[in-house]
Amino acid sequence: MIRFYNTLGRKLEDFNSIIPGQVRMYTCGPTVYNFAHIGNFRAYLFEDLLRRTLEYHGSKVIQVMNLTDVDDKTIRDSRKANLPLADFTRKYKDAFFEDLKTLRIEPAAVYPEATAHIPEMLQMIGQLMDKGFAYQSGDGSIYFSIAKCPSYGQLVKLDFENQRKAERVRSDEYAKDSVADFALWKAWDENDGDVKWDSPWGAGRPGWHLECSAMSRKYLGQTFDIHTGGVDNMFPHHEDEIAQSESANGCKFVNYWLHCEHLTVKGAKMSKSAGNFFTLRDLLSQGWNGAEIRYVLIGTHYRSKLNFDPAALDTARTALKKFRTLFGKLKALPAGNSLAAEAAAIAADAKAKFAEGIADDLNISRAMAVLFTFTREVNSLLAKNPAADAAKIILDRYRDFDRVLAFLDVDAAEPVQEAARQDVPAEIMDLVEQRIAAKKARNFALADELRDKISAAGWNVKDTPAGPEITRQ
Ligand code: AMP
Ligand code: ZN
Repeated sequence: MIRFYNTLGRKLEDFNSIIPGQVRMYTCGPTVYNFAHIGNFRAYLFEDLLRRTLEYHGSKVIQVMNLTDVDDKTIRDSRKANLPLADFTRKYKDAFFEDLKTLRIEPAAVYPEATAHIPEMLQMIGQLMDKGFAYQSGDGSIYFSIAKCPSYGQLVKLDFENQRKAERVRSDEYAKDSVADFALWKAWDENDGDVKWDSPWGAGRPGWHLECSAMSRKYLGQTFDIHTGGVDNMFPHHEDEIAQSESANGCKFVNYWLHCEHLTVKGAKMSKSAGNFFTLRDLLSQGWNGAEIRYVLIGTHYRSKLNFDPAALDTARTALKKFRTLFGKLKALPAGNSLAAEAAAIAADAKAKFAEGIADDLNISRAMAVLFTFTREVNSLLAKNPAADAAKIILDRYRDFDRVLAFLDVDAAEPVQEAARQDVPAEIMDLVEQRIAAKKARNFALADELRDKISAAGWNVKDTPAGPEITRQ
């Protein structure tokens, strides 16, 4: 049984999907006005871990992630850049998809864009107007009336007596102490430039919260299983989504709400506005890779704050290198079935514990402890001279764990040892890489030819389980 901490009731609950074996899940995606930072990616990686865990436990997951390509910030910055909104956001959409790949985040079924779903949003506003949950203000904007929605505040447990200060709020982001009627449709004003759509209530553009209510309904239905985001999305964004959807649809919106804690830097939330952020690209240009960054960002339980310390990337690199060396050794074992039964026993035990650990509200610490215990057992087994059949069972278990973890890369191309790489000239490294490719393609004649070339240039290449080692003659 899988269980999750549901923000809605603030407690751990057994997870049951509406349709057995199928999970419908909505994850709030990026606002494409800049490159996403690794705080954002902590949230997307938590969602990936969630999704992979559900899949590991046999469910088919239909995930929808929106792209916010029109809001206060995208408009502001596209105007600053002097670009049409669509041209401005295109660059960040493309970058986002590249970054998802780098971090091995499984693609969602659909990435609906807000600008492509204006009719769906207008339809929802119409329903809210018809049912009396929304009204038009003097400037032509449409607001959701929280007074008409008695359940407003169910997610964040608002204390209206002490908190209600403002009448209504036009901006997409506001704090809990200024809870107010919020904008569904923002009448055009000169700050919007040429960004506007026609509507029965005049030209304007949608509020941010509305897009998720309208697009989740289109792709997942009125009631679905899981909705996620970072904790900062709880208010007002998710509270407002619940109000809009439940008022328009007349039924429950989402059964399980899961929220990921922040990535912090020196204790403060990593954010674009605070300027204390690293983009994924910053870390890649410092020489870290996607697997290492993923290892660090998923390694702390999603409901705990994670203080980003670059030293953690060093730890990740060391750990992942050890795994690569181990996989190399296992792959090099001679044919035979020596110790295969022992390998099967430790692999089965590890599988059961891993599956149970990760199903316990994505308890990554438990899952990682299983991984390391299993690895210690594998190393002990290696000392007893196992053969290839045992190695296959063990490697298959690592491949199986990697369906969830996605940083072990059991079958990645043979790496060149980092230490060796440092002082070897680029043209020699080039030959070494070509030789790795030739060996992979089983073109051993070419591999030998390349070895001779490397040798003629004054270098020796020695194959080790961790990859080729290159030394000066
Ligand atoms: P945004 O582009 O600001 O709408 O954020 C996209 C996602 O990243 C949302 O789910 C946010 O809650 C999440 N997020 C933003 N900053 C952080 C952070 N420092 N740590 C974790 N998640 C974050
Ligand atoms: Zn959203």
